[in-house]
Amino acid sequence: MSEKTAKKTTILALDLGGSKMLSALVDVFESADGERKTELRGVARRALTKDTGRDGVWAAILDATAETFERTGESWDAVASIGATIPGVADPKRGYWVYAPFSGIADFPLADELRAQFGKPVFADNDVNACAWAEKVFGACQGVDNFVWITISNGIGGGLVLDGKVYAGKFSGAAEIGHFNVVENGGALCGCGKRGCLEATAAGPGIARRYRESVANAAGVSDFSTENDTASPALRDAWLRYLASNKESVDLKAEVEAAQSATAADVADEARRGNPLAVEVYNATGRYVGRAASYAANLVNPEKIVIGGGVAGAFDLFYPALWTTFERCLFKATNKTLTIEKTGLGYEAGLMGAASLAFAPYC
Ligand SMILES: [Zn+2]
Repeated sequence: MSEKTAKKTTILALDLGGSKMLSALVDVFESADGERKTELRGVARRALTKDTGRDGVWAAILDATAETFERTGESWDAVASIGATIPGVADPKRGYWVYAPFSGIADFPLADELRAQFGKPVFADNDVNACAWAEKVFGACQGVDNFVWITISNGIGGGLVLDGKVYAGKFSGAAEIGHFNVVENGGALCGCGKRGCLEATAAGPGIARRYRESVANAAGVSDFSTENDTASPALRDAWLRYLASNKESVDLKAEVEAAQSATAADVADEARRGNPLAVEVYNATGRYVGRAASYAANLVNPEKIVIGGGVAGAFDLFYPALWTTFERCLFKATNKTLTIEKTGLGYEAGLMGAASLAFAPYC
């Protein structure tokens, strides 16, 4: 596409999360035949915590937005509209932040306040729905009217686009895939108060915890595993052989200690180096997500399932086991062409989500 002949629309995108907020200008170039290309400019970041509060979030928005304009040298004249994601329960019709369990922020008329401050049209919705919508507007689901979006990072969220529209449910609670139970009779405690949820098991912290438990098991320090699937003797032997051929000396106590601080990304690095315990942790992640994805597929009969979020960086590690379990549990007759793929939105999916709300509003 030639950017000279394409129509350009510039949107101020605000991606509000639990631990940070991002501001950026998103340029959307659209050719006469509807082909779209996007470019991010002036990304500014501010840290947020659960204690930041509503005033602190508002101050971060003003500050980051000012930085975005400073870095790009643009003025408000260049901006057509504003899109914002909300980390929690949202009412997209009013652009209203209803409630965020993480921070306790509630009843925040975000769109009204942004409109009053900046004098531009504002569109806001829950971050997961926004990302699902961005996949249709800019990503892997352009031209796809029925799909499931799953985001796996520190938590697990789901979004549904059905018949070309975001489906949010009666109280914005549709597609809570993170709270599908995947471990019977126990499992780790989830933030929602139940045990064995997909989020507690297969999101980043769950991956790190299962690795810690697996290393402790294999080192003989503990026979405890939250999921009750302890390492088999064959897996333990494979791990000991891996250590013997990859480390100068084998120190099981040091391995147990190192595993304490390993993140999901560290476990992925270990798996890529061939550590059998790390490989198995990602295989199990694939099996848990695959089972949950099959329930979603059997319920809504989508054309695609798309996986995003930070853990999607390890898509290649968990996809084979995911697909095997998914196919085993799937009602095949009506889902013959269904695919599961990695997001087409890249790392800044939240900003693309915010931009998609403003570029192609659904409320
Ligand atoms: Zn839960």
